[in-house]
Amino acid sequence: MSALLEVTDLVVAFGDVRAVRGVSFSLSEGETLAIVGESGSGKSLSSLAVLGLLPAQARVESGEIRWAGEDVSAMSERELRALRGEQLSMIFQDPLSALNPSLTVGYQIAEMFRRRRGLRRDEARRRAVEAMTEVGIPDAARRVGAYPHEFSGGMRQRVMIAMALALEPRLLIADEPTTALDVTVQAQILRLLRHRQREGLAMVIISHDLGVVARTARSVVVMYAGQAVESGTVADVYIAPAHPYTLGLLDASPSARDSNREIRPIDGYPPDITALPTGCAFHPRCPFARERCRTEEPDLREFAPGRSSACHYAEEVLARGAAVDHAGA
Ligand code: SF4
Ligand code: MG
Repeated sequence: MSALLEVTDLVVAFGDVRAVRGVSFSLSEGETLAIVGESGSGKSLSSLAVLGLLPAQARVESGEIRWAGEDVSAMSERELRALRGEQLSMIFQDPLSALNPSLTVGYQIAEMFRRRRGLRRDEARRRAVEAMTEVGIPDAARRVGAYPHEFSGGMRQRVMIAMALALEPRLLIADEPTTALDVTVQAQILRLLRHRQREGLAMVIISHDLGVVARTARSVVVMYAGQAVESGTVADVYIAPAHPYTLGLLDASPSARDSNREIRPIDGYPPDITALPTGCAFHPRCPFARERCRTEEPDLREFAPGRSSACHYAEEVLARGAAVDHAGA
């Protein structure tokens, strides 16, 4: 099947500073891909670039973004707006910032149906109630007249999802969709998203939470300092990580694997992208690092079919991760 979305060697820059440094990924209809990394890794910027929604100071310096085979950079602003409205949509971590506080939630959803579908006011309102009900907002017929501040965080996130899915997009980009939510609400939102996946919705989930990724995505791209450092199916990568950073993320994640392994945060901090370390950007934090890593930048290489790692010692990491895991099991 040809790809719905294909991103190749994407570079996003703020002035001279490259915040995304050559990232590639693709996904097909109904497929879910996760982009994982700490804040500042470039995962959000990569997806904003896809939507043509980069912040004003940022630009796509090079690379290619194709939607259903068509070059997105060649599209007019009008075509882009239609694409964003109809075919792909996005939900953000902070739903309050995306909702207008002075308009009722129902009005904001109904407006979409009026503007995009040309529905009459009463019909649009009926559809808004339907959309709210579908995402599990109780008593939607009444709450359609409530304002954003009258909703809890979890309910506001549902409203955002209702809006994002209202026009039946083919792709949903979800940036930390459950980060602000408690565990119960998080589970409900993930169920809701999985239900839409089964109906054919493609998704890009951006998250720092490997547990969320495990429950939603089939494949994963791990980003560090603006680059993809590992990719593969979630099943393969979680069982046998091939980059020390991924190994570290898994060890730091309480929810990613049910093993008895001790939870251990990764030493140090992500680098300042304006002053990246030489060689491998991860070397100051890497327990596997040796002299070569300080000078020679590793390329992302496919070491097995469908598995890539940007580590000089991927095979060694792979063996070590597996050994540790067996010891803990
Ligand atoms: Fe660590 Fe070296 Fe691999 Fe970078 S290339 S992740 S520093 S072992
Ligand atoms: Mg972000």
